[in-house]
Amino acid sequence: MKRSVPLAFLLSATVLASQTQITAPDNNYTPAQDVELGQRAAAEARQQLPLTRDDAVTSYIEDIGRRLTTAIPAEFRHPEFRYTFEVVNVREINAFALPGGPMFVNRGMIEAAHAEGEVAGVMAHELSHVVLRHGTAQASKATKYEIGQIAGAVIGSIIGGGWGQVISQGTQFGLGAAFLRFSREYERQADILGSHIMARAGYDPRDMANMFKTIEKQGGSGGPQWLSDHPNPGDRSAYITKEAQQLRIENPIRDTRAFDQVKAHLRQLPPAPTTEQATRNRGNRPTGTSGRDFPRPTGRVEPPSSSFRTYNEGNLFQVSVPSNWQEIQSNTSVTFAPNGAYGQANGQTVFTHGVEFGIGRNESHDLQDATDELIQSLRSSNPSLGRASGYERVNVANQRGLRTVLRNRSEITGQDEVIQLVTTQARDGNLFYAIGVAPGDDYSDYRRVFDRVFGSLQLARLR
Ligand SMILES: [Zn+2]
Repeated sequence: MKRSVPLAFLLSATVLASQTQITAPDNNYTPAQDVELGQRAAAEARQQLPLTRDDAVTSYIEDIGRRLTTAIPAEFRHPEFRYTFEVVNVREINAFALPGGPMFVNRGMIEAAHAEGEVAGVMAHELSHVVLRHGTAQASKATKYEIGQIAGAVIGSIIGGGWGQVISQGTQFGLGAAFLRFSREYERQADILGSHIMARAGYDPRDMANMFKTIEKQGGSGGPQWLSDHPNPGDRSAYITKEAQQLRIENPIRDTRAFDQVKAHLRQLPPAPTTEQATRNRGNRPTGTSGRDFPRPTGRVEPPSSSFRTYNEGNLFQVSVPSNWQEIQSNTSVTFAPNGAYGQANGQTVFTHGVEFGIGRNESHDLQDATDELIQSLRSSNPSLGRASGYERVNVANQRGLRTVLRNRSEITGQDEVIQLVTTQARDGNLFYAIGVAPGDDYSDYRRVFDRVFGSLQLARLR
């Protein structure tokens, strides 16, 4: 007699053993703090974003969400977490999930998907960030922030897209970004755990890889927000496919009717607006200027005042700037510019004279690599940007820094402009940057101002 039972047992044990094991990263916050932070940020999101009340769409996404949460492996369940699933009526292919459970899926994401498994794939990935508590784990690497302080900033960094593109598309300023922009290591974890959750919920994990390809294809200039928050760790499709081969899909879902119905239903609705269109009148404005719309900058400005004032960001840095430069603070950057120098052109915010400060990603922890990457991202919104000098080692706020000079053709004046870029490491290991912009003809005057501004810079110390 063949001993089929033990053999089958052995076989399934082998299959289980070859699944990649995931361990949640260290975290200084409690799960209850995840919940508090997520609930506050979600309340803000519900005020700021146009949620779909269309039951056909919302109940469909809720059903997928419930199926996925039921499939969370036991070791990653947090009894205090509350999972909710809402649909945002905007066009961009994006989705985000907040600590402790609230998830928001853009209508554009559903419209871009070719199958239910693709929608479920993005949701399983987002859900994995939540159960692995990646947002607060990431924040644990930096200062311990107050929960209340964080909540608004998180949403600012979601909606901030349009406002954040001062000239720095692809970079994020400060707090909120830390909770939604993940490292490649966390991405890989969310892909792997996401594939386990999918298989347990009856979905083929390869659909997750397919959706990522769909998102990449629809990239456009700068790529969709989702990709900048969830960077490809490399070989994404390959390792998801490999992981999928180790997994048994339980009770596979083969019925595509609900997906087809929702897609057909969405096609009958008026097209979704962009996030910027949808949030324009919801009070999401750079804060320094009491919420007015910015006209196109004229590029005609008064010279920098010789008296300076001190600006204290509090959490990150302090700097002195000419007293006739206004601060334009969004949740993703802060710019100081004279009247006439800052405004909107072709749907983007631009400035012709002044300085900007912000934080960029620095995963390699190599200052020059991170600065190269920043210049690359600046180039994606400023195609004629080029280098005018190599790197010069400088002292920035009493630590090692780099300075380089760039040239660009101003969209506003049509003239050459000179950009001085100074970078150093921020206390959380990310890249702190300062950018000075002036027309080429005035650069020698402005350079003295930039030297004084950048020379006054103080960074908050690591605790
Ligand atoms: Zn991710």
